[in-house]
Amino acid sequence: MITRKSNFEIKRMRKAGEITARILSRVAQQIEPGITTQELDDLAEAAAREFDVKPAFKGYQGFPASICVSVNDQVVHGIPGSRRLEKGDIVGLDFGVVYQGYYGDAALTVAVGEISPEHRKLLKITQEALWKGLAQARAGNRVSHVSRAIQEYVEKNGFAVVRDFVGHGIGQAMHEEPQVPNFVDPYRLGFDPVLKPGMTLAIEPMVNAGTAQVKIDRKDRWTVRTVDGSYSAHFEHTVLVTEGEPEVLTKVTESAGEIGGLIQW
Ligand code: MG
Repeated sequence: MITRKSNFEIKRMRKAGEITARILSRVAQQIEPGITTQELDDLAEAAAREFDVKPAFKGYQGFPASICVSVNDQVVHGIPGSRRLEKGDIVGLDFGVVYQGYYGDAALTVAVGEISPEHRKLLKITQEALWKGLAQARAGNRVSHVSRAIQEYVEKNGFAVVRDFVGHGIGQAMHEEPQVPNFVDPYRLGFDPVLKPGMTLAIEPMVNAGTAQVKIDRKDRWTVRTVDGSYSAHFEHTVLVTEGEPEVLTKVTESAGEIGGLIQW
């Protein structure tokens, strides 16, 4: 069942989204060569305490940390630890909070110092693909309008969308219906849900520089990597479908400064 949020719920979703964005941009701005991924988790955890929210991922199906930190060929669900970031790395941060029973979820990928032009393009295209998808989160459109906008833009630019992980509805649970794939399944076209005002979605393109294929780490059972070792980027926002323009709930409203060469995400 796809829920449509009441005004009462939307108020809380807005706040959850705002706090998610603030914490995520704060953590992202601390990224520099030499910092460990564990230190990023500590920052996220401390910020969640400060804002009096629960980090949504901690303990979720046993996930051991507050923030997912996925470096280079890691696509999503990287576990923070002793790894030190180096110049040339790209770092995906995925973070969510629970505020008064409602979830916010967002992600961005940040460059550590100077990165290659190819990886710079990967970050740019993935971020732009997210906004192409968000623009389609309009009442009357179907989920596949969002999927198609993302897939076409990514593939036109020579990259591949990950198929094994998808975006999702969000609200009183982190993952609600519908699924929001970053690709179009021709067999489901016309059967996929029509978007209506009050629906809230987490749209999150995961884009690989090489093949779309990914694998899950056998030891930690969380970290998702590209099978060919190519680098991967991930951007995500939580969005509210309205009668008019989509309302991005996890947008940073104040000036967040420059984050890894990206002004906004
Ligand atoms: Mg998500």
